[in-house]
Amino acid sequence: MTALVTAAIAGGGLAGCECARRLARAGVAVTLYEMKPGSYSPAHTSPDLAELVCSNSLRSDDIASGVGLLKQEMRELDSLVMQVAEATRVPAGKALAVDRELFARRMTEAMEAEPNITVVRREISSIHAPELAAADVAVVAAGPLASAPLAASLAAVVGSDHLYFYDAIAPIIAAESIDTTIAFQGSRYDEGEGDYLNCPMNREEYEAFHAALLAAEKAPTHEFEKEIHFEGCMPIEALAERGERTLVFGPFKPVGFTDPRTGLRPYAIVQLRAENLNRTAYNLVGCQTKLKYGEQERVFRMIPGLANAEFVRHGSMHRNTYVNAPLVLADDLALRPHRHVHLAGQITGVEGYVESAACGLWLGMLLAARALGRDLPQPPVHTALGALLHHLRTPAKNFQPSNVNFGLMPELTQRARKRDRKALYAERARASFAAWLEGVPGLEK
Ligand SMILES: Cc1cc2nc3c(=O)[nH]c(=O)nc-3n(C[C@H](O)[C@H](O)[C@H](O)COP(=O)(O)OP(=O)(O)OC[C@H]3O[C@@H](n4cnc5c(N)ncnc54)[C@H](O)[C@@H]3O)c2cc1C
Repeated sequence: MTALVTAAIAGGGLAGCECARRLARAGVAVTLYEMKPGSYSPAHTSPDLAELVCSNSLRSDDIASGVGLLKQEMRELDSLVMQVAEATRVPAGKALAVDRELFARRMTEAMEAEPNITVVRREISSIHAPELAAADVAVVAAGPLASAPLAASLAAVVGSDHLYFYDAIAPIIAAESIDTTIAFQGSRYDEGEGDYLNCPMNREEYEAFHAALLAAEKAPTHEFEKEIHFEGCMPIEALAERGERTLVFGPFKPVGFTDPRTGLRPYAIVQLRAENLNRTAYNLVGCQTKLKYGEQERVFRMIPGLANAEFVRHGSMHRNTYVNAPLVLADDLALRPHRHVHLAGQITGVEGYVESAACGLWLGMLLAARALGRDLPQPPVHTALGALLHHLRTPAKNFQPSNVNFGLMPELTQRARKRDRKALYAERARASFAAWLEGVPGLEK
């Protein structure tokens, strides 16, 4: 293998900047290609690097949450995004929110000031582009709105079945917040292994839910997202608009079910499908939605059994370019069909600002270790970073991007009261992370 001396990175977003800095600090000469200001994605507007395209929040700072834990691990790994976020922080209660413009400005200054980084404002239009081929290693960190030619070349390499352009996500609920005296386990006509939890609705409950769904406030649609939805991933509110009983004949079809509480067939059934092997989180089948987050909580909590539902992830529908990582990426995030090119950030199948930055940081660390002739063991799956990376290696019938959450980690081995569980996950993760860090020789910062 040739020594790693030069690197080319396509995309100066959160992942690209983290990755570039880590490589540069290991002595690798990095060229960071950013297509702005010559060309902008439909959501980017600032010429600066690491632009936060929507919210200015990097979410909870509470260590007893997946994202709070991930941020703490990133701080301990000397993350640039965490340092700049801290320096540009604005008050936001328990969340880490930043002054968006100042954040991007400081990130840009940090990239431009790094002696081993050259920022080139140019679009990379193919993963076979000479700029990438000429470097010892190439990273594509072009984000969920990667430019069309680059995305097309990626699709050609991984196969169009393994590159997705649109995300239709139903809300995901913490298992322990589901009332299992109402929701019952079982499959239609008792076929299969009873993998689903089912929330039965009587007519009155369904009609109230349907009315609330129609009246609820929707998130605004970006101009570029006004795409025709495939029938299979229509937002539930759009389906509900077709008629009062459309859901009953569609995703909420009750045939083949008997409610064990009444011995009767319910008027409608909302099915919940386990999100992970530990069954710590459940997906509301067919409930992909564009409702505002607060409205999702209000409306979906009207479903019997979900009155106290805790949302691990809200539903959303937006343009999102990402690969089927478990099939097309190797453990070092290199494209299996084209090992010279690695992916980082949201395009790998992680979801969110913090997760994208963490992914770039990890790849930068891994490649930096390689440049220094060292091995870097994967972080354990009990840590937030390890769990997130494990998601990218876990094959799924319908692979979807994921935020970091405790549901991606192995179940706790001890029995614990509900209110203690998050703290226990966090405690275990902290210990696991510390042990891992200790075993990593000369971690390059
Ligand atoms: C509309 C929208 C809203 C979002 N809102 C949120 C939110 O509120 N909170 C949250 O946590 N996450 C949000 N996300 C999800 C996601 O976490 C962010 O998009 C995040 O910025 C992804 O980080 P990244 O580094 O992978 O990509 P980006 O930050 O998007 O960076 C990619 C960079 O690559 C550049 N680029 C693209 N193509 C090329 C090319 N061919 N050549 C050179 N440069 C190129 C782009 O200009 C961009 O600067 C949102 C996503 C979208 C699409």
